[in-house]
Amino acid sequence: MEYFVRNENGSMMAEDVSVSSLASQYGTPLYVYSERSLREHFAEFDESAGDFPHLICYAVKANSNLSVLSLMASLGAGFDIVSGGELARVIRAGGDPSRVVYSGVAKTESEIAYALNAGILSFNVESEAEMERISKVAVSENITARVSVRVNPDVDAGTHPYISTGLKTNKFGVPVERAFTLYQRARDLPGIKIVGIDCHIGSQLTSLAPFEDALDRIVKLIIRLRNEGIVIEHIDVGGGLGVVYNEEVPPSRKSYMDAILNKIKGLNLKLICEPGRSMVANAGILISRCEYLKEGETVNFCIVDTAMNDMIRPSLYQAWMKIEEAELRDNVPDEVYNVVGPVCETGDFLGKERHLRVAAGDYLVMQGAGAYGFSMSSNYNSRPRACEVMVSGSKHRIIRKRETAEDLWRGEEL
Ligand SMILES: *Cc1c(COP(=O)(O)O)cnc(C)c1O
Repeated sequence: MEYFVRNENGSMMAEDVSVSSLASQYGTPLYVYSERSLREHFAEFDESAGDFPHLICYAVKANSNLSVLSLMASLGAGFDIVSGGELARVIRAGGDPSRVVYSGVAKTESEIAYALNAGILSFNVESEAEMERISKVAVSENITARVSVRVNPDVDAGTHPYISTGLKTNKFGVPVERAFTLYQRARDLPGIKIVGIDCHIGSQLTSLAPFEDALDRIVKLIIRLRNEGIVIEHIDVGGGLGVVYNEEVPPSRKSYMDAILNKIKGLNLKLICEPGRSMVANAGILISRCEYLKEGETVNFCIVDTAMNDMIRPSLYQAWMKIEEAELRDNVPDEVYNVVGPVCETGDFLGKERHLRVAAGDYLVMQGAGAYGFSMSSNYNSRPRACEVMVSGSKHRIIRKRETAEDLWRGEEL
């Protein structure tokens, strides 16, 4: 289902509300999320797993707004976190720490102690040194740590190098052979209980083959471990399912889940998956206002009030994000523009060479902005961060206020 589509009058809608009316009421830059789409995306993952024992651990970093987390928790989601701050968010939003898996290569002692005391489901351990550290903290806190080893299966996810994580040149996880040894070592470490195995090979994958290759390698390892008497209760397949930004054709959530279940059925494992982008990307848009049109020597600029500090994906990954007029108009010519923001960096653009019929004052809609949008935003150029709004049918409410000047220097001293 598409939730941000034009009605018969050419107005872009967010569920049952016009995007322009939201922009005039709340101002721009404005993130708008569709509650219906979040519910539907979660249900697609959850229902595709059917009766198979499973837990959908939403990857918090994709969109960490408390209202998004609280909605996920109410639907029965667990959470994949990568920092103590994300755990604090999950708890604040009413999420259940016993449904939290904790990934990330640099967990500090205090983060480990915090997660142990919260009672998380599993640490996804990314190195030998981390395993030693978790053991040490677990002993001193007198709490058993439940662990999985994040295996780096060395498969090419076929995605952008910056969002590929399962190659041996990446910093993430432990290669298969060393994972085997690490499990043997972990079995004898105090304060450690082995519960699972984990992998996450990259993001925005548009084919099932890399997932399947990775799973084949992991399943082989699970069987070897079992032969050693090391029991693996759950397999965490990570996230990474791609979405449509432009003309990608990613597998559906159902065929993704079917492919995974097909690889692990009969192994008496519980399935954990960690979808981030696929859950939220197309559940959100980012609305900008065109401030100026500027003719360049070789290219025309559509200068908007949204910048790389609000949405960094185009600058950081050369990501192509769809940009459309909030209202269709036929009284201005169709021109090609580079859509750029106010930040003083040449890399500050939202889209290049886009056909738009636009005049100063018009609103533009960036699609697919629900994932890695607000959560990657910053205050660079002392720009207050955007407002976030949740729409449900014809209702809408602020889920994060637009920042003020005071917010910019909170914590600073004169
Ligand atoms: C980022 C991340 C995810 C989510 O990835 P998506 O591509 O957004 O689904 C899941 N697991 C781990 C360990 C991650 O780092």
